[in-house]
Amino acid sequence: MRRIPLFERELERTCVQELSDSYGPNRLFMKRDDMIPFSFGGNKARKAAEFYREIMKTDTDIVMTYGSNSSNHCRIIANMAASMGLGCHIISPQENGMVHNNTRLVQKSGAVIETCPVSAVAGTIENRKQAYREQGKRPYFIEGGGHGNPGVEAYVKGYREIEAYEREHSVHFDYIFHASGTGATQAGLVCGQLLSGEQERKIVGISIAREAQRGRSVVEDSIRTYLGERFAQLYQEEQLVFTDAYRSGGYGSYTEEIAETIDFVMQREGIPMDTTYVGKAFHGMLAYLQENKISGRNILFIHTGGCPIFFDRLEESRLDG
Ligand SMILES: *Cc1c(COP(=O)(O)O)cnc(C)c1O
Repeated sequence: MRRIPLFERELERTCVQELSDSYGPNRLFMKRDDMIPFSFGGNKARKAAEFYREIMKTDTDIVMTYGSNSSNHCRIIANMAASMGLGCHIISPQENGMVHNNTRLVQKSGAVIETCPVSAVAGTIENRKQAYREQGKRPYFIEGGGHGNPGVEAYVKGYREIEAYEREHSVHFDYIFHASGTGATQAGLVCGQLLSGEQERKIVGISIAREAQRGRSVVEDSIRTYLGERFAQLYQEEQLVFTDAYRSGGYGSYTEEIAETIDFVMQREGIPMDTTYVGKAFHGMLAYLQENKISGRNILFIHTGGCPIFFDRLEESRLDG
């Protein structure tokens, strides 16, 4: 296995920047996890750094994962496997529609993409693992979205970075907002908060797809698994806020208002946001702040990446004329 020096040590802390005063009566800051310097960055790059360390402890020769081949997760895992000199096998649900930039990047990494109907995913994963083992290969399977303890660990560290920033800059964030999908990012942030004993702020996960009950219970399960025995003592229900009020039609779909917010932030701050995750969550955050009449607070938004999806939308609008 080839080493990836960037992932051998702890990642450098990503920058936090204050945004302009264009967003109402709060101070808004953004933590730029999209700037993590691997494969266009994002929260999947932060998680990949943890999976990398796990894989290096094994004698893996092929990395397997599940997810849409147009996802940020699959792009980063395919890129990481290629960088390590390992094979990569991605199992994707059948989709139709345009070819996305992430899919192109997955293909350029040389990953095998196998598609199957959603209902056949679990069986396909098991069969494929088995088939590799029978060939004498040693597959390492990463759950969709980088779910699992290493993914949670990545954002426990992200939370510690936020605390370090606060100490150095004498600021306290009353709210942390971010796009919540498979839930590992939120589980990590909440675990970070529970472990540090901080109780004065709210971490708000803006669901980009799941409805509240399921989304919340998945995050809670991840927290329970990560904390283990400490769960009963540390966990407090109120510290998990997961809202599905801003899903706008579910995974991948977005409204004209979301597109307008994205264009505004690009013009005003020079920061790109995608329609599936970050733009949708940022727009949702602004609505949440307004609806809850929150003012005079310090708000941190975590930019979780998705840069290639930003360009998907530009291409779509080019095709529209
Ligand atoms: C995957 C992803 C998320 C959601 O992260 P989870 O840990 O799955 O909740 C948010 N933003 C971007 C850009 C992503 O790729």
